[in-house]
Amino acid sequence: MYNLKIVIIGAGIGGLTTGIALTKAGYQVEIYDRVKELRPAGAGISLWSNGVKVLNKLGLGDRMAAIGGQMDRMQYRSCKDELLNDISLQPLIAEVGQRPYPVARTDLQQMLLEAFPGQVKLGSKCVGFEEFGDSVTAIFEDGYTATGDLLIAADGVRSTLRPYILGTEIEPRYAGYVNWNGLVKASEDLSPKNTWMLYVGEHKRASMMPVGGDRFYFFFDVPLPKGTSTPPEARQQELANFFQGWPQPVQNLIKQINPLETNRLEIHDIGPIDTFVRGRVALLGDAAHSTTPDLGQGGCQAMEDAEVLTRYLLTTNISVEDALKRYERERKERANAIVLKARKRADQIHGKEPEITEQWYQQLRQESPLDVTNAISKTILGGPLR
Ligand code: FAD
Repeated sequence: MYNLKIVIIGAGIGGLTTGIALTKAGYQVEIYDRVKELRPAGAGISLWSNGVKVLNKLGLGDRMAAIGGQMDRMQYRSCKDELLNDISLQPLIAEVGQRPYPVARTDLQQMLLEAFPGQVKLGSKCVGFEEFGDSVTAIFEDGYTATGDLLIAADGVRSTLRPYILGTEIEPRYAGYVNWNGLVKASEDLSPKNTWMLYVGEHKRASMMPVGGDRFYFFFDVPLPKGTSTPPEARQQELANFFQGWPQPVQNLIKQINPLETNRLEIHDIGPIDTFVRGRVALLGDAAHSTTPDLGQGGCQAMEDAEVLTRYLLTTNISVEDALKRYERERKERANAIVLKARKRADQIHGKEPEITEQWYQQLRQESPLDVTNAISKTILGGPLR
């Protein structure tokens, strides 16, 4: 289809990648976000090869490589510092044809913003939309309206537009654990600089992965009941308590973090939901399929959405509604499977059933590194770009 005007709500990874893809396809795109200043939630993200391939297709491969970390290995160690598994990522890279890149979120967002040739209109909170015969109009809190041939709701896990598309509200589901994350200067007293290091035990995790700029993106996970909170200034002490007795690099990491720049969030997911589309309006990214970060696939799935949506708009010509239905059919199968797989993995890691987590620790000791990379490759190769 030609000459479409497309309105996107949300300038996160999903909205921006879609904006770039649709603009490159020749469409006119406007992106709106409610915030006055774009600041990514969270410090880092691992972009697995399926996400990177979408960026490659958009001509952003070189820029991604420049901001991404050199992650050559994964290592699992126990909370008693026993080496559980040491995994080269080379077989994975050879299998899927692209290395993964851990990256600081601000760098990724900056890259996507620079690559989007249009304007992102900030301070624009969308509160609903109206559909007419051959157009749809987004309505903003301040009374402003934006009309296009289609509307993309990339407005995140707590999407404002989702209830209008589904006809019902759905509450994000608490995954049972809290995640702390941030960035520190990379140093060998924390982890080898080319390695994604994961300490596991007591149903918790402490992890570091290399991102560009000689830094580590770190995260900690602890299973906790819903509703706990800790002010930023107390977060270092909180982590010191939770990870007391863990190996020296974890202690070094906790000493080096800046608690005021350490995010603390309860992890949620949604769905799986069956409806991504109503008429000329499509959910995209976390708004459609927010997933726990246990596979590192949420952002990658938003990028896959961008690729598939753009492909159907470009390559079919029955109607906008028909192209969106094709997008829904292809994406709901893939993204919902990831939501469920990540949820299962979250439960396995965080001791929902303690004996299953103990089995997982045992499996890590015995599993061949190739089995680990083959499992990740399978997830990656399930995406639209092989
Ligand atoms: P968001 O990033 O949430 O963007 C939504 C945007 O919409 C926001 O800018 C918001 O301001 C705007 N908005 C909301 N409502 C409105 C409104 N009414 N009007 C206008 N604008 C609005 N994924 C990976 O691929 N790899 C990882 O390693 C990884 N790690 C993660 C670690 C953690 C701790 C978490 C929480 C997530 C992780 N993810 C990871 C998932 C990834 O962060 C998300 O899937 C991704 O950021 C979703 O992008 P999005 O654009 O769909 O939504």
